[in-house]
Amino acid sequence: MTSASTVTATTVNSSNGGHKLNIPKSINGSTLDLRRVDTLRRMYSSNSVKKKAIEVTPSSFVKIRLLGKGDVGKVYLVRQRDTERLYAMKVLSKKEMIKRNKIKRALAEQEILAASNHPFIITLYHSFQSEEYLYFCMEYCMGGEFFRALQMRPGKHLNEEDAKFYAAEVIAALEYLHLMGFIYRDLKPENILLHQTGHIMLSDFDLAKQSSPAGEPTVVKTGSPSIPPAIDTRSCISGLRTNSFVGTEEYIAPEVIKGCGHTSAVDWWTLGILIYEMLFSVTPFKGKDRNATFQSIMHTDVLFPDHPSAQQISSLCKSVIRKLLIKDDQLRLGSKAGASDVKQHPFFKTTNWALLRHQLPPIIPQKSFGADAVNFRQMHESVSLDIEGESLVLTPPGGKNLFANFSSVTLHHDGDDDL
Ligand code: AMP
Repeated sequence: MTSASTVTATTVNSSNGGHKLNIPKSINGSTLDLRRVDTLRRMYSSNSVKKKAIEVTPSSFVKIRLLGKGDVGKVYLVRQRDTERLYAMKVLSKKEMIKRNKIKRALAEQEILAASNHPFIITLYHSFQSEEYLYFCMEYCMGGEFFRALQMRPGKHLNEEDAKFYAAEVIAALEYLHLMGFIYRDLKPENILLHQTGHIMLSDFDLAKQSSPAGEPTVVKTGSPSIPPAIDTRSCISGLRTNSFVGTEEYIAPEVIKGCGHTSAVDWWTLGILIYEMLFSVTPFKGKDRNATFQSIMHTDVLFPDHPSAQQISSLCKSVIRKLLIKDDQLRLGSKAGASDVKQHPFFKTTNWALLRHQLPPIIPQKSFGADAVNFRQMHESVSLDIEGESLVLTPPGGKNLFANFSSVTLHHDGDDDL
């Protein structure tokens, strides 16, 4: 916060020994979300996560309903028997993973989720396996998919200020991932979930890629005295160039189509597409088929719709989109010093980065009483999976032990027991 910030405050009782906490109500005019005060006790530092031997088995959970389907698995809403807590349980079929050559991706997803501890990245509580499945027991995002929330807005789009809010939360999450040495590679509204408070949570890390080892971050001095020095997250992944052709058609970056290797700059490209889609409800390079989309991604300059609501979009907003969608990944915004480049673009001048997660999000999900999952569409399962009937295995059977490297762990997060 700069010395010029205007802060209005309120006092609330802390449940921690009855102390009074002076919580700001607004900073520089941004409304802070006082309902989040209760969750502020949760600490976000790597020291606040403790990795322990697995403390649950499949039978510790009761299946409530199917929430969604992924590439090789399903995600269920489950209740833990002894604590009554709700979780989202991702269950991946080993047979499917072997058949479709997706084992490495599942192992990488576990590694990334277990290593991450950030308010805008889904929290992993347990990972374990049975003879047939891998399990990820994660925080349940009651607000459902951001994509669905977007579809339900008038005109299926957001205004510029609201889009800026979500873009800022995504930038904060990408900054953290890049700092940890990961490239996300699959940013799109379908992979952004909404916490019950309306804040975003990135999910689905099966396309994410880790560099090994993460490079040492360097500090970037900012041009403005009001922006503190930032970490050059580009340097954390500078050794990571990958060739795999992954991502979602309309979000794929030109360098991925070219197949000549790509870096963390792909995440800044996908951010540009995401901001565009949030504002205009379409992606900028969509063609009549895959080939036409790819041609357009490679060769067409980004154009903005000229209908009246699109004309209200500011030139700063169009500038940040254009810079994120520069075809040459070496010239793209974010390619020099990573997230700090993007955060310093004048479009984000009014963003209060340090207090993002205490601001009131533009979309507050419909109140859900836990198990009713009102923000998810009803899904039917042709083959029902019996989670409780499966037994935990620590060393999977089979000569090659393809899943021997999958970690069965319980992660304790500071502050969770108080909630
Ligand atoms: P995924 O395989 O990670 O893409 O997940 C498939 C779908 O399951 C998502 O699109 C969501 O609808 C749902 N889902 C995944 N993770 C969660 C979660 N932590 N909380 C609520 N729903 C989830």
